[in-house]
Amino acid sequence: MAGLVTRFAPSPTGPLHLGHAYAAIVAHDLARRSGGRFLLRIEDIDQARCRPAFETQIFDDLRWLGLTWDGAVMRQSDRLPAYEAALSQLSSQTYRCSCTRRDIEMAISAPQEGHGPDGPIYPGTCRHKNHLDGAIRLNLQNRPYRTVFTETGPEFAGQIITDNYPKTIGDIVLARRDMGTSYHLSVVIDDAAQGITHVTRGSDLFDATRIHVLLQDLLALPRPVYHHHPLIRDDQGKRLAKRDDARALSTYRSQGATPADIRAMIGL
Ligand code: GLU
Repeated sequence: MAGLVTRFAPSPTGPLHLGHAYAAIVAHDLARRSGGRFLLRIEDIDQARCRPAFETQIFDDLRWLGLTWDGAVMRQSDRLPAYEAALSQLSSQTYRCSCTRRDIEMAISAPQEGHGPDGPIYPGTCRHKNHLDGAIRLNLQNRPYRTVFTETGPEFAGQIITDNYPKTIGDIVLARRDMGTSYHLSVVIDDAAQGITHVTRGSDLFDATRIHVLLQDLLALPRPVYHHHPLIRDDQGKRLAKRDDARALSTYRSQGATPADIRAMIGL
């Protein structure tokens, strides 16, 4: 394994906790062991929830953990032109949607039947309405795509092949009305722009990966290898939330923990 390129891609919407430390260390160590590069990307497209103070704290916590990243930090809020270019590349396959969450729920007769990684499967209400504004959705009607990717994480390792994938996700949102992009679109564009060869992240994002693979195919972008790692859970077995300040790295630091203690706590 020569020269893997990995990344840590936190959103500055809260303090980093043990789960983030785990994700960052996995990505960092994988890159360093292979003589590759470990990159940092700040996922701050949701400007309503992101705070500069959390971003500063991310840099500080990573340095304290002894994780150094290569090159300049990529910040998604600087990348809107790249997302716009991708949206125009896909424009013949997209449409504008003015539905609210409530509209969608009302339009679905049996909500429990139609849930994908992004929530209820969109019933296609606006597909032929030619709205001029609203969210941008990818028209996946009657498109029997197969998605294929290589997974190296401990839970699902192997070739992950999914047939007729669009049926289980519906017309996904590529750009939210208030953001001009979405998590799915940005992450795919930026992993390609940063030359990421191995995407490491929590297994909660495993289902989202098929969406990313589909977008890579439509945009003719290279396919990284995926490595979904187990989530760090609290003593009750609940996954750590961003707002769980009790497990924030800064809390452990202020109580005198060392980076070695943190590694021990998360089993690394
Ligand atoms: N920004 C996401 C998070 O904070 C991570 C996305 C990813 O690794 O693909 O959970």
